[in-house]
Amino acid sequence: MSQNLIYLDNHSTTRCDPRVLDAMLPYFSEEYGNPSSLHPLGRRAAQAIEAAREQVAGLLGAAPREIVFTSGATESISLALLGVLQHYRTRGDHLIVAATEHKAVLETAHQWQDEGGRVTVLPVDSYGCIDLDDLRRAIDDRTVLVSLMAANNEVGTLLPLAEVGRLCRERGVFFHSDATQWVGKLPLDVSSLPVDLLSFSGHKMYGPKGIGVLYLRRPEVRLTPRQVGGGQEHGLRAGTHAVPLIVGLGVACDLAKHEMNAEAQRLLALRERLWTTLHHHLEGLHLNGHPLHRLPGNLNVSFEWVNGAALLLALRNQVAVSSGAACIESGTGASYVLRAMGIEASRAEASLRFGLGRYTTDEEIDQAGQAVVAAVRKLRQQSPLYQMQQQLLRT
Ligand SMILES: *Cc1c(COP(=O)(O)O)cnc(C)c1O
Repeated sequence: MSQNLIYLDNHSTTRCDPRVLDAMLPYFSEEYGNPSSLHPLGRRAAQAIEAAREQVAGLLGAAPREIVFTSGATESISLALLGVLQHYRTRGDHLIVAATEHKAVLETAHQWQDEGGRVTVLPVDSYGCIDLDDLRRAIDDRTVLVSLMAANNEVGTLLPLAEVGRLCRERGVFFHSDATQWVGKLPLDVSSLPVDLLSFSGHKMYGPKGIGVLYLRRPEVRLTPRQVGGGQEHGLRAGTHAVPLIVGLGVACDLAKHEMNAEAQRLLALRERLWTTLHHHLEGLHLNGHPLHRLPGNLNVSFEWVNGAALLLALRNQVAVSSGAACIESGTGASYVLRAMGIEASRAEASLRFGLGRYTTDEEIDQAGQAVVAAVRKLRQQSPLYQMQQQLLRT
């Protein structure tokens, strides 16, 4: 079964690129030194880390000393938000985020509130975009940090990073972006972009799981570390480096730098092909997210007259997709991202997120399209609501 499973869940995680795996392997075996050690084994591990740091910096247009290795985007976000807010506590207490942020941001914002801080959650429009005027109005003289995601992990909507960054600069507040879905997929250059901090994870860009990056603009941005100890990463994130994972992430960044533009073109064409198939064969579809300003590999569709859970179940062994972000487990049904976009619960529940990636083929897109069309048709045949509306159309 799983051999034929078509993987369209690349926003959840991606397969580690074989070239990344190859680069990592020696650091699990012969090259096992601790980079803090002064002997040759340690020196070589330290050199491997610095080479990877340059590769990461190279993808972002950053300086190597602005790259902090963490365990993933969740930790990077926690370090960015709470680290900055704590460090600048005398300057202010106010954090601004958007309603459609990943839980890593929303829950960290809650944590800040529990510590006595203030948080403003910006609303979004039906495309999942914030209004820059809302942001302008939300900033007050006690605002320290604005955190807005670069690309949404459910609907793919992109943030105008440069405009938001300029606004934050003008108002003298720091700008952090959760760029987990953007980095490695679309170009981004912090040497020209007014962004102060960026977070992302290796496993969303064909690198290994358990490794992430916090970019922070130096020396302008300072933060209070959350994990102290041996003083690694300039004291910002102590703990022995995950050398194999860091090496893998470096290679993943290098590959992305050279391949992402061509890959984005290919994914965009595949995405359009999938949408055309669905649209051609099915009525009652709604595209969720912005039609143009969206990740090339993202398609999020609501299906009228279909139960979302039943649809996922019907497709389970053929096509690996999600409905929102892992909402079946949470048991709440409708995605809070779609709900924040003003989409009613029933439509939000009956939606699928397709995440196309590096290994998605034309054939897979055609097969997946056919499987979804067949599953939706079958479920609609069983739906009294659908039958009723068909009858109405006939009379
Ligand atoms: C996956 C993801 C995260 C969390 O990444 P982890 O690797 O689980 O820490 C944060 N933000 C976005 C937008 C994501 O897609």
